[in-house]
Amino acid sequence: MTERVFSVAIDGPAGAGKSTIAKAVAARCGFVYVDTGAIYRTVGLAVRRAGRDPHDPAVVAPLLPALAISFDYGADGAQRMHLNGEDVSAAIRTPEMSMYASAVSALPQVRAFLLDMQRDTARRQSVVMDGRDIGTVVLPQADLKIFLTASPEARARRRLAELNAKGDKSTLDEVAADMARRDHDDATRAAAPLRAAEDAVTVDTSDMTLEESIETVCRLVRERMVERGER
Ligand code: C5P
Repeated sequence: MTERVFSVAIDGPAGAGKSTIAKAVAARCGFVYVDTGAIYRTVGLAVRRAGRDPHDPAVVAPLLPALAISFDYGADGAQRMHLNGEDVSAAIRTPEMSMYASAVSALPQVRAFLLDMQRDTARRQSVVMDGRDIGTVVLPQADLKIFLTASPEARARRRLAELNAKGDKSTLDEVAADMARRDHDDATRAAAPLRAAEDAVTVDTSDMTLEESIETVCRLVRERMVERGER
């Protein structure tokens, strides 16, 4: 008999704290954390390196079959992305790759290409998976769906702090403008637009500390596990 696995889907706009919160919740629950944005970023990087227009399906789709994309976890538990055998975990974390990821993620061919990888991961083990369409498309049967959001100001400030900590010199205005563009593109695209699943619990972290946000989501996980008779 296969062991029952539990899945938590966390969706929401850029800068809502999804990855930090999802990672901490996964660690506390003993689940695997899956950052699906990193997978789209890796496709974006491959398209950038090939010198192709990330908006054009006619030039992006032919690249996909030859891409070997995989991920594993370092000793520190961080998800590492591999592209054709190379560790690209750092290379995908630039503002340029955010835009490339957003552009390629609007292409149905790219979304279809990545769907099985994401679903297989959640079939094999209990996961906290974050992205834009996890509760709506990737794991519509997820045990718990969370739509994590925050005000545009709070999100831009957090993303700026993250970038500055890595030595990136972006300004608040630049980050806010990039984010607004990406939010708009993610929410209005035809293929798997960003939206809360009907049965998602919305958590607004604008006025919460990080610890409060993590505890709020952990409490929702514990409650749902009790309801499902998991613990
Ligand atoms: O979460 P992150 O900012 O790393 O994601 C980069 C981009 O990848 C997002 O702006 C979004 O366009 C896309 N994405 C997506 N579906 C996901 C995860 C990310 O379309 N499940």
